[in-house]
Amino acid sequence: MRAISIKVGTPGASLVEVPEPQRRKGEVLLRTLYTGICGTDRGLVGNQLSFARPPPGSTSLIIGHEALARVEDVDPGIKLRKGSLVVPMVRRPGKCLNCLIGRQDNCSDGDFVEAGIRGLDGFMRDYFTDDPTYLVRVEDESLGMLAVLTEPLKNIVKAYDVYDLVSRRAITNCRDGSRSCLTVTIAGAGPIGMLFAMMFNSVGMDVKIFSRHDPDGTLSEMASKIGAEYFVREDRSKPIPPSDVFVETSGSPNVAMDGIRALRPNGVAILFGTAPSGSEPVSGQDVIDIVERNITVIGTVDGAKEHYIRALSYLSSWKDSYPGVLKSMITAIVPPEEAPPILAEKPRGEIKSVIKWE
Ligand SMILES: [Zn+2]
Repeated sequence: MRAISIKVGTPGASLVEVPEPQRRKGEVLLRTLYTGICGTDRGLVGNQLSFARPPPGSTSLIIGHEALARVEDVDPGIKLRKGSLVVPMVRRPGKCLNCLIGRQDNCSDGDFVEAGIRGLDGFMRDYFTDDPTYLVRVEDESLGMLAVLTEPLKNIVKAYDVYDLVSRRAITNCRDGSRSCLTVTIAGAGPIGMLFAMMFNSVGMDVKIFSRHDPDGTLSEMASKIGAEYFVREDRSKPIPPSDVFVETSGSPNVAMDGIRALRPNGVAILFGTAPSGSEPVSGQDVIDIVERNITVIGTVDGAKEHYIRALSYLSSWKDSYPGVLKSMITAIVPPEEAPPILAEKPRGEIKSVIKWE
């Protein structure tokens, strides 16, 4: 069967032939239907991620962590049946207390593995076997390919939960009890930025989203369908509007600091993007402003099984409330044979590319 793998430590990805997996008792055999391509995959293929790690005893790693799969074979007595659609979880627990309660997204010692990223083969292959504990059932089968967005969206569901928790330290609701008087500004208009825009719009907040360019107006149009306002910010000369929440998805340190500087009192910055380069000095005045205005800076990664489950219900709801938007985020569907060059270099105009396996 086909698989897309990398040699850890060397740039490039190849489509290779590997043996079909043998299901052991208690495991589920799965047919991969779709896998999404994200920045982490490109970081792995470009040999830019220091945490990339093959499974023990191997030098190569099958990549892919955003997937939709179909159950092919399963033991009786498990809730899944042949034909069920599932989204596999990425991160698998180590031995710390957070991991032991299913919150490996909050792992406290780094002793976890991640499918397709570190220490465990991923889902860019025709078939794989898995422990049913790490499979999230897709109840709404009408989602089809859109369910491949569950994995990126679960990060945003968790980030929103963390924001919700810290926002309760002061009154941040409006006079009507809602959050409709609050403004959130999102840096980066890729799939993560757009999903954050839907998340905050769905709770009634005023959403602004920006990126460095939008040559054909696609991002502006997509934002307006979400009920968000898009603007181009080519460089730092354009100010970031005053906001109650700032979300950084690009990983740029100067964008992160500019966004923090634009926060109103009791504001919250959610840092989600990461990038290995760049720097931005933090001045004494920055520290004073963060202290005096009760600013909270949140770093957040991954999500738990409950966030995958809720991501699926958001996708079902947004499919109807933002008609056509989720579908228009998937800008290319390619067979595995055409995936390696797309994994090496992001095509122009891409929002999300997806590999179709069946
Ligand atoms: Zn842990």
